[in-house]
Amino acid sequence: MSKKWVYLFSEGNASMRDLLGGKGAGVAEMTRTGVPVPPGFTITTEACNSYYDNGKQFPEGLWDQVTESLKDIEQKTGKKFGDPSNPLLVSVRSGAKFSMPGMMDTVLNLGLNKQTLEGLAKLTDNPRFAADAYRRFVQLFGKIVLGVDGEKFEHVLNEAKGHNRQDTDLSAEELQAITEKFKAIIKQDAGVDFPEDPYEQLMMSIGAVFSSWMGRRAVDYRRLNKIADNLGTGVNVQAMVFGNMGDDSATGVAFTRSPSTGDEHIYGEYLVNAQGEDVVAGVRTPRPIAELSQEMPTVYGQFATIAKQLEGHYKDVQDVEFTIEKGKLWMLQTRTGKRTGAAAIKIAVDLLREGVIDEATAVQRVEPAALDQLLHPTVDEGAKAKARTIGDYLTTGLPASPGAATGKVVFDPDEAELRGRNGEKIILVRTETAPEDFHGMVAAQAVLTARGGMTSHAAVVARGMGKPCVAGAGALRIDYKAQEFSANGRTIKHGEYITLDGGTGEVFAGRLPTVEPKLTGDFATFMSWADKLRKLGVRTNADTPHDARVAREFGAEGIGLCRTEHMFFEGDRIDAMREMIVAETLDERRAALAKIEPLQQGDFEGIFEAMDDFPVTIRTLDPPLHEFLPHGEDEIAALAQKMGIDTTKLKTKIESLREANPMLGFRGCRLGIIYPEITEMQARAIFKAAAACQKKGVKVHPEVMIPLVGDLSELKAQADLVRRVADEVMQETGETIAYMVGTMIELPRAALTADKIAEVAEFFSFGTNDLTQTTFGMSRDDAGRFLPLYVERKILKDDPFQVLDQEGVGQLVQMGTERGRSTRANLKVGICGEHGGEPSSVMFCHRVGLNYVSCSPYRVPIARLAAAHAALGDATRDK
Ligand code: PEP
Ligand code: MG
Repeated sequence: MSKKWVYLFSEGNASMRDLLGGKGAGVAEMTRTGVPVPPGFTITTEACNSYYDNGKQFPEGLWDQVTESLKDIEQKTGKKFGDPSNPLLVSVRSGAKFSMPGMMDTVLNLGLNKQTLEGLAKLTDNPRFAADAYRRFVQLFGKIVLGVDGEKFEHVLNEAKGHNRQDTDLSAEELQAITEKFKAIIKQDAGVDFPEDPYEQLMMSIGAVFSSWMGRRAVDYRRLNKIADNLGTGVNVQAMVFGNMGDDSATGVAFTRSPSTGDEHIYGEYLVNAQGEDVVAGVRTPRPIAELSQEMPTVYGQFATIAKQLEGHYKDVQDVEFTIEKGKLWMLQTRTGKRTGAAAIKIAVDLLREGVIDEATAVQRVEPAALDQLLHPTVDEGAKAKARTIGDYLTTGLPASPGAATGKVVFDPDEAELRGRNGEKIILVRTETAPEDFHGMVAAQAVLTARGGMTSHAAVVARGMGKPCVAGAGALRIDYKAQEFSANGRTIKHGEYITLDGGTGEVFAGRLPTVEPKLTGDFATFMSWADKLRKLGVRTNADTPHDARVAREFGAEGIGLCRTEHMFFEGDRIDAMREMIVAETLDERRAALAKIEPLQQGDFEGIFEAMDDFPVTIRTLDPPLHEFLPHGEDEIAALAQKMGIDTTKLKTKIESLREANPMLGFRGCRLGIIYPEITEMQARAIFKAAAACQKKGVKVHPEVMIPLVGDLSELKAQADLVRRVADEVMQETGETIAYMVGTMIELPRAALTADKIAEVAEFFSFGTNDLTQTTFGMSRDDAGRFLPLYVERKILKDDPFQVLDQEGVGQLVQMGTERGRSTRANLKVGICGEHGGEPSSVMFCHRVGLNYVSCSPYRVPIARLAAAHAALGDATRDK
């Protein structure tokens, strides 16, 4: 007997997502729990994989099982596939394990041909309805299964509608004529007659859904969302129900709570006398679901009850699709609702308050990366008001995905992709988006559409990407040909700037300033649950008192990296720094350093105050000195004049500092070893600041960190110096300061000899930016030329400068930690590379037993949540 490739809906359940895909498992579970679902069956994801293994042939036994299962649908519906007097029509839809909205293809009304069409017309006593169903089927089948350019069909349809009519205004005769034109297009473009045999239609459609798994849209989507290619898609074949059988029929989509804000009310859209794809494709702008409660109160009541029942069953917000056929409600799909970061928090907190889930589950319900959206800016209200008074307000559409964005208007997705890749900030403006526009949306800062609702393609996709989106801005008049759009009496041309607020739906001409977000009470409550669970400490990388304060508000428990060099760039300080660099003698250098010292001390005092009682890790000077010097002719001449030295002499000095490989050159602790007076000055500034703060009652915990150490002797030389200065300052001030001296581990040799280095170092902090650079032998400055292509071509799964390479660099982190602690059992170990705020890397740090991660202020909440997820991962594993 051949393998089981097909499951009736009544044979599956929610736990079978791997095999049946999300949609298949969802409809099976609904069927099992008594929800009204049109009968059907699911072809497994294994069948899809076998199809590819078999050189795009159906695996043995699949077709027999399909025809057998079709009989079950026939029996349940009392209709017959291909029977002219009582035809069964089916939909064929894809459904992978992870939902990929709009990425895969669907064929509706399959089973229609000349004979069944007549049967349907008679049976429903509605020739117009039958003609429209056939028109849709031929259109979808032509586009999806036979690969004909969909625009050609749209063109015929639009011509027939003219300017003032909608698709619902077309008569049966007009629809028939349109369908015949479609068939002619198919014949011409695909070179085949439209298949009349329903079984042939079905076989071809199943093949097309399998093929769409490897289509460009699907592959792009999976790459962006890090979904594996080998999961395969399920194929769902289901009896059709019709939302377009008249004014007592409708179709819609809804969330059991708002996916945008998390507000607790059913939230969705519907269209009367329409089929499902009309809502998603934005062909007509749908109506809010609240109106359905007035228009069809009984059905709405049933729908609301079932929706809430499904939410209760899954203990989470559901995204459901439904159809009303002549007053009867059918549920077509349920799945976990995708939501914004803000909604995710509110829903998690509300479900806990309602007693549906516990704290750990609530914490797990929010993806750490989703918090990023919450921390995004919005458009400044004052600037909005001003923009209104000067006529820069353009329109308000639906607030489809929050966040503020400013960029140049581009209408074409290919152009958006090209310009986005070159680093330009683009806003993609479309009448509506379709899945084939996906690459343009990825490249854009934000998306603006004239048509479509909150569940339109543009809205769903932008929300998923965390990009601002304003959808359905009906006042927008887009003229693709003229490359411009108009709204509110203004015309905005291609390339001009606009600003949009995805949280309110407002659109403005020009570039408006944005403001930082304010976090809600729910956010604090939620984060406190995460904090209770996590074991990892979370610190921040901050170089100024301002950043330190921001980071404290986001919950940072100290500073893991203060890059002191950033302080040298501010205002006039750079002059003293440059004097120091070009100094010829030790005295000259000391004189220049003496000017810098009080400025550094002031900064450190501000930082200690902001971080009262939390540890502050301050790193001594790290970058190559030439980074502080100008390189252009004019700038060099200006500097020479300012410093009162000869231009040629300055030029020669700058030239002498040039290095072939500055990243591997005279930088890090090498500077402080050759010029100990630099480290000395910095140490004095640190300890004097600490003493001054301590005197004022601020609790200080300075940790002095030496960068780019490769050998114990390097660290020893610098640590001895720091300790000597600390003793001197303590003597001078009479303040005893508890401090530590440690090192960055950012060279492979340091990780390998960590046991020796820990003889001197009281703490380690993994500088995974440099450690990745030196382990891969890839320059941080030059990798941008090839790394994106590496990721695109899957040579590497991720950019290792963003996501920690656990397999390679991670080994050095683990080994360095273990070896360090073999010498010094209580060695404090952290990470301060960019990876300290990236969720999967944070989870790795938890697993290898680091004490803390340190990241930029805005990523602190993400790291806190990722650390909680990591701790919960342990708890689940231990069960
Ligand atoms: C690192 O190398 O990971 C690090 C934090 O230091 P920087 O990025 O300043 O080199
Ligand atoms: Mg570094």
